[in-house]
Amino acid sequence: MSALQPVRGTRDLLPDESRRHRRVVETARKTAELYGYEEVATPIFEFTEVFKRTLGDTSDIVTKEMYTFEDRGGEQLTLRPEATAGIMRALISGGLAQHLPLKFFCAGAMFRYERPQKGRYRQFHQIDIELLGVPEPLGDVEVIAVGAHILEALGVLGKTTLELNTLGDAESRATYRAALVDYLGKHLDKLSPESRARLERNPLRVLDSKDEADRRIVAAAPVFFDYLNESSRAFFDKVTRRLSALGIAYRLNPRIVRGLDYYCHTVFEFTTDELGAQGAVIAGGRYDGLAETMGGAPTASVGWAGGIERLAMLADEMRETLRPIAVIPVGEAAESAALVLARDLRHRGIAVELGFHGNLSRRMRRANKVNARIAVLLGDNELGRKVASLRDLDTGVQSEVALDSLVDRLAAER
Ligand code: ATP
Ligand code: MG
Repeated sequence: MSALQPVRGTRDLLPDESRRHRRVVETARKTAELYGYEEVATPIFEFTEVFKRTLGDTSDIVTKEMYTFEDRGGEQLTLRPEATAGIMRALISGGLAQHLPLKFFCAGAMFRYERPQKGRYRQFHQIDIELLGVPEPLGDVEVIAVGAHILEALGVLGKTTLELNTLGDAESRATYRAALVDYLGKHLDKLSPESRARLERNPLRVLDSKDEADRRIVAAAPVFFDYLNESSRAFFDKVTRRLSALGIAYRLNPRIVRGLDYYCHTVFEFTTDELGAQGAVIAGGRYDGLAETMGGAPTASVGWAGGIERLAMLADEMRETLRPIAVIPVGEAAESAALVLARDLRHRGIAVELGFHGNLSRRMRRANKVNARIAVLLGDNELGRKVASLRDLDTGVQSEVALDSLVDRLAAER
């Protein structure tokens, strides 16, 4: 019966979880708008090249996580594993460079072939912030500030730590890379096979290996800060000083290198220890070289992505405040009056639960189940006298209200 199961690593978002996701997205969107970030949406699939070229041949995503397929026309396509590449593609193919700087927000589903576990899925969702065309350290500061603001608005900032590192400019990276390769080369026999392979193709990645033996070696490895040239050091200095001016706390972590090849200067993660191994809720950095790699004009850019599933898990469950009014016709004759009342209330923006079947007590049970505030009972007797019975479901107090003032009365009680 495997065809009737959801595909491994995918999930149905039932109402409770959908609501939590929506809250994360709406909070993020509203907050981002305060900083001038406007929502965009790029396609869910792109030519495979778009991701291969941007994420780099040695990244985990490209080597083992992409959902790639050939369509009926023979095109090689990939379901997007992240948002940045598509946005950069749009910048170039849409000729948007003339409008720089640009501030984008987007949200949506991403796809990675990973081992599913709590907080890690094959179809998951991200919110995403990109600031394009700003080379100054203030750009790094702003995107981090937007992230902190969103976490605060969600009520989870206190559960997270901002971990910060710098990868410097190309020159600093080359110097550091040489020192790192030199150091790791001396411990080759103790490195995991995976790290040994990385050492040749992308030595920085060894720094974020999760292997225990690797971690012991990495602990004593040279750190980036010591290899920064003057301008890279000044850049990072400014980022940290401005963050402090904003009261945004951070912890320097030289092991944050990010998995992708395109980062430079500031890289960061907001992490938590409340979600087990899946501790990163927001991650990002500066990627000045990316647009050029894709064939566009050089475009200094910085941004981040946040995992909606992880943010939703972290956020306290907020019971939706929208409580409906239950409209309950007693007997078939009251059905039309109930329908009309429900329509009028909904047109006034009031949510209404109108049952389809069952006797009075069954409908009352249903009203309680959907957490209704008030039940409006419409019976033949009441209708004959042009009134309805209102029962406050929290206090149990019942009263009669004239039908022609009912809608105004319920609207006022909101
Ligand atoms: P991780 O180290 O957890 O694999 P990552 O570095 O691959 O994360 P990014 O590519 O930076 O993650 O994505 C940004 C955010 O998206 C992560 O911090 C995380 O919150 C979320 N995320 C990434 N992969 C998944 C996934 N498979 N399922 C759920 N959320 C994810
Ligand atoms: Mg990953």
